[in-house]
Amino acid sequence: MPILAIVSSPRTGAISDLSPTPVFDCHVHLPDGETSLQAYRADVASSGIELIGLCGLWFGGPHQALAGEPAQLRTGNDGMITLAAGHPDLVPAATVHPYDASATDELTRVAGRGITVLKLHPHTQRFDAADPRVLTLVRAAGELGLTVLFDNAGILPGDSERLFNLALQAPKTIFIFAHLGGLNFRFWNVLALARTADDLLPDTLYFDLSATVVLAAGSPIEAEFVWTLRNVGIDRVLLGSDHPQFTLARTLEALDRLDLTAEEKSRIRHGNARRLFGR
Ligand SMILES: [Zn+2]
Repeated sequence: MPILAIVSSPRTGAISDLSPTPVFDCHVHLPDGETSLQAYRADVASSGIELIGLCGLWFGGPHQALAGEPAQLRTGNDGMITLAAGHPDLVPAATVHPYDASATDELTRVAGRGITVLKLHPHTQRFDAADPRVLTLVRAAGELGLTVLFDNAGILPGDSERLFNLALQAPKTIFIFAHLGGLNFRFWNVLALARTADDLLPDTLYFDLSATVVLAAGSPIEAEFVWTLRNVGIDRVLLGSDHPQFTLARTLEALDRLDLTAEEKSRIRHGNARRLFGR
């Protein structure tokens, strides 16, 4: 689900510098399956971007994933699995609702069908990340070898704090926190301090830059945003567009503006995702 609309002034000019290295987009909404995927591919191709992979989500826009509708979620998950079967570069993400009694069973089922990513969104799915059922679910995801892609746009009060606490209690689960906390990205500088505490911080946290990078680039807070990326660890940062709310080209244009080295940008564009997703 796209986050709140953001007003920004896109940089004008050529986009010929968008493809110095390939790109893995770890955050793409595909609510209409093949139709959405083809529209996304056409958009990426029109910008001359070399796409080597994407992680696709079926919910968002017209499709929600609320509690009490497990059959609907199952249908959505199966649709994404079927779509990915015809597209080797597509990493399909499933979702469940932590409050559904069947959540862990559905997670186990889709893991058996090849799903490696679980997407959760406290705001649109209307759950509290501090609820014990969420901890149970993300621990199960870790046991099944699934990565949990968690919305972290900072919409709900205490969003980043709750997710940090959750991750500390589920040290065997790998998380990607989408949007890097939104405009509360400053919180995540705490990781630079947490690493100095013996055995506190598990080596499990990743972040995607989607949406937030578009607002930060060219803004008064750009330098602080770059400082944050280095504090969370450049090896922990992934490129995501959150398409269709943002195009991949606009996201890459924003990343390109940041005062990072070419090597750092390359790792964010594809290197870290290749390692994480085994591609
Ligand atoms: Zn999204």
